[in-house]
Amino acid sequence: MSMILFTCALEPLLRMLTLSLCNNRQMVTVLPVYAYADDVIILCKETTDPTRIQEVLQVFGNASNSVINFTESTFMALTPRGQTISSRFTNVNKMKILGILFTPNIMDVIETNWKDIVNKIRYGIKRHLSRNLNVIKKVWHINTFILSKIWYLAQVLPIPIHTAQQIEKVVGFYLWKGFVFRIARLQCRLSTKEGGLQLINVKTKCDALFIKEIIRTDHNIDTLVRISNYVASVQASSMTRSLTKLTTDANKFLEAIDIAPEQITTKLIYSYFQDQVRCLPSVQCKFPNKNWKKIWSYFKIPHIPSSWKWETYALINGIIMTEERKYMYHIVPTPQCNKCGTIDTISHRLTRCSDLTRGIWLCVKQQLNNVHKATNPNINLRIVFDLDVPQTPHYFSILWLAMGFIYYMLKNKTKTLPDFIKELRRVYLQTDVHVREKLQTLDFLTEQ
Ligand SMILES: [Zn+2]
Repeated sequence: MSMILFTCALEPLLRMLTLSLCNNRQMVTVLPVYAYADDVIILCKETTDPTRIQEVLQVFGNASNSVINFTESTFMALTPRGQTISSRFTNVNKMKILGILFTPNIMDVIETNWKDIVNKIRYGIKRHLSRNLNVIKKVWHINTFILSKIWYLAQVLPIPIHTAQQIEKVVGFYLWKGFVFRIARLQCRLSTKEGGLQLINVKTKCDALFIKEIIRTDHNIDTLVRISNYVASVQASSMTRSLTKLTTDANKFLEAIDIAPEQITTKLIYSYFQDQVRCLPSVQCKFPNKNWKKIWSYFKIPHIPSSWKWETYALINGIIMTEERKYMYHIVPTPQCNKCGTIDTISHRLTRCSDLTRGIWLCVKQQLNNVHKATNPNINLRIVFDLDVPQTPHYFSILWLAMGFIYYMLKNKTKTLPDFIKELRRVYLQTDVHVREKLQTLDFLTEQ
């Protein structure tokens, strides 16, 4: 309906307005009339423009027998000179255009719109706090649903540093609620193959979107320089420093890449900025001799539940809350296991705590031995605690079993062998048929 309305009623009027307003201008770089469905925005540059608009409306009204509702149409002056203009439109000092609130003060526009977004994100996250998602799923949720609210605004307005910090704080709270030990934020932002969780860096992504939008329209960053100078002329603030830095960074980016402006993507700008602050996961710095490339690649393998991957990732990164670790950080008075009284390390918890634990571990060892047929007695410990998986065609079943075992042992309070087998069989039966074929080497899954 609104498309027909637009074509029949609005389009001739829009053409008349554009013609009238462009008439005596030498060069038109910005079109004066914008329409989104039946929402029309007109940018006036000359003090005579509002009168011209009224004349056009009069002529159009006479010809088409339509009447404009002046009380529903508003006028906002952006400069002191503009405030002296009198027109039949309702004067306002704020106006929402395509979802963004505009006022005559640029700093106001930036602050108000971003504040609104932060509140929306807070509300969005609050609604999901009680959901029991693992951290990998939470990152998907944040990247896809929570942060998507800000990408539109980021293309139009630069994000203030304090806003980005507020968003990171809210996101961090959601991600690590209930955790004592966490993965560092810088590591979380790395890609999976680098040992990260692919969490989006809010400030960098917003900057990349803003720069991309400027390059898209200008093919250079002149507008960014102009915005930066303009904001600096209005008032010296953290925004001024932030924009100056953004201009320098954008310049460096353009110098560093050898690519036509129209081929520049947000992704390209984002990865360039991310590369400037790249770090190694702390566990990788601690144990530099392990084959990390191989270890991290296992977290990208499909058909393993994300909950299993998450517990394994937490184990590899050393953030599991054992009594020994809690004792090291003075959280508990003793490093001893609550159940058996020996020192509670991660290997104790997974393989030695009780007869039931030992029984499950024995079953896992036998299954692993059947698959890899290696004779080294430590191989199974290395598989589970270091993800040092032997190179065999059946490495998938080894990995699947190791991760399933880690998840079961860390997440379940009462652990028994029949329950362990039942749980892994349940997951096995839910996977695709072609994956199940790969897992046939683990005979306890199919035995009756
Ligand atoms: Zn114990």
